[in-house]
Amino acid sequence: MTEKILLFGGTFDPVHNGHTNILQAAYKQGGFDRAIVLPNAVSPFKPGSPEASNTQRLEMLRLAFSGLEWCSISDMEFYMPQPSYTVNTLEKLKSQMPSSELFWLCGGDVIKEFHMWYRADEIIELASLAVVKRDSVRKPDFEDIEAKLGKNIPRMIIDSPIYDISSTEIRRRLRKGSEISGLVPKAVEQYIKQNNIYSAHSAG
Ligand code: ATP
Repeated sequence: MTEKILLFGGTFDPVHNGHTNILQAAYKQGGFDRAIVLPNAVSPFKPGSPEASNTQRLEMLRLAFSGLEWCSISDMEFYMPQPSYTVNTLEKLKSQMPSSELFWLCGGDVIKEFHMWYRADEIIELASLAVVKRDSVRKPDFEDIEAKLGKNIPRMIIDSPIYDISSTEIRRRLRKGSEISGLVPKAVEQYIKQNNIYSAHSAG
């Protein structure tokens, strides 16, 4: 049986309601069998990050996605070479699940740089992209990127409202001591406060 799997990679520093909402929208619309969330160890695009530890980001993801029986969290990228290149993760998953059909969920903001991803042409041999609108990019220009790549990008467009939330904004608010309620799941907010992550006085 071919399993249709939705993959959601990111830094999740911290996970927020934009993440939880788009994953659920994609899962509902795409007819997936299950979803796997993959926090990276070090993003190729975000040197110096993340601020929270691997354990903390993993725990926040568990809290955010608990109760979704179709969704699991994988720490596999923590144990792979760094930075965490998507192509390496996809190759590994494909070797573990050769008959699966993989989809990589991402916000429209990442599409404008997709041709610069490490071995982007191989990524799209291994997976289709499941793309959601984001405030900065409501309609990603696939034609432009496909011209730069010299290849068509297999994709599924996910219809969802715009969620004007980013981890950057949440970290900024916490540093200033501003409120973040409504931007992250309640349990994640409590975890951040209990562990004093991202505050002006935290270790990170
Ligand atoms: P940062 O602000 O630290 O750059 P981020 O909020 O973009 O972080 P990431 O963990 O880097 O969060 O995002 C993982 C994936 O989720 C990316 O594909 C990104 O485009 C997507 N994403 C994050 N936030 C949103 C959002 N509000 N709407 C749509 N997609 C989002």
